[in-house]
Amino acid sequence: MVKTGRAAVMTEARKPLEIREYPLPRVDKGCILVKITCCTICGSDLHTWTGRRKSPTPIILGHEIIGKIVELGEGVALDSGNRPLKVGDRITWTIMDNCGKCYYCREKGLMMKCTSLKKYGHDSCAEAPHFVGGFAEYCYITPGTCVIKLPDELTDEEVAPANCALATVVAAWDAIGLQPFDNVLIQGAGALGFYAAALARHCGCERIIVTDIIESRLEFVRRFGATDTINTKGMKDEEIVGAVKGLTGGFGVDCAIELAGLPALIPLGLRCLRTGGRYMETGSAWAGANFTFDASELIFRCLTLKGVHNYDTKHLQQAVDFLRMTHDRFPFRELVGEEVNLDRINEGLRIAESGKTIRVAVKP
Ligand SMILES: [Zn+2]
Ligand SMILES: [Zn+2]
Repeated sequence: MVKTGRAAVMTEARKPLEIREYPLPRVDKGCILVKITCCTICGSDLHTWTGRRKSPTPIILGHEIIGKIVELGEGVALDSGNRPLKVGDRITWTIMDNCGKCYYCREKGLMMKCTSLKKYGHDSCAEAPHFVGGFAEYCYITPGTCVIKLPDELTDEEVAPANCALATVVAAWDAIGLQPFDNVLIQGAGALGFYAAALARHCGCERIIVTDIIESRLEFVRRFGATDTINTKGMKDEEIVGAVKGLTGGFGVDCAIELAGLPALIPLGLRCLRTGGRYMETGSAWAGANFTFDASELIFRCLTLKGVHNYDTKHLQQAVDFLRMTHDRFPFRELVGEEVNLDRINEGLRIAESGKTIRVAVKP
């Protein structure tokens, strides 16, 4: 008899996910079948569920996934760090499966822009192997995915968001060239903002200024290394720019990052930069996120404006290493405030949408 597994499937935006049973796939060469132990709900899952972002259906959402190996396909012996893999090992893996052979993979070092890209939690689950997302009992990992064996000292809840939120921030800081002694501005005290602050602190940054409009989150982000917080509720843009300059000797920050998902913050963040400063856009990842900025200011003030989408394998490994090194120092565990099983997935999505907690964990 063919074994089956359960999955929470989205058939249409805004409709409750429904539980379906799919047959477990035969594990082909180079593939891994994983029993999922934890998948945290990411902001982009909510974008898809609310219809803000288009996606194929039916779909199993969820991409911040941790699981234990159930079966290893022929030829799979090591993870991406050359650590031996065996049945029962706890692993995470890159959000994407890339071919390693195309123009972007081979020549441009942009594996996340592979021309045959597959993304967990982003593709249709209609066809076998079905288990291609995180809100399910199993996940089928294909050969173009980079797998990382997890250190025992990290809990599932601590490490699940590494797969998307943390690795993305690692990639963003890498792309914008974060350096020790930099003064930085982080716009948005959500999951990515907490990680951005902790990484900046770990890197040896001087002023780590975080802006948001929710006071409790600003208090919380101080525990992740923020040195200064500004509650921008009711503040005019020039007042915010003035406050940031006031904290940086009148010059502005070396580096700023938008993680709130509000394109209106981009011109404001650019104005908070010192001359020669660098700006990283990471938060407003949906079409139509327009902003207006005077291009002459980019020129006269020698500013850099960059975008980053997802990350490279090395960033996921660095994310896991960072958690291992600093999990006693920063309260990563407290980012996950609620836990639901597959049957309560719709409740989990509503809690995540309410913003009551930073992350909701789905434990099938
Ligand atoms: Zn490729
Ligand atoms: Zn995500």
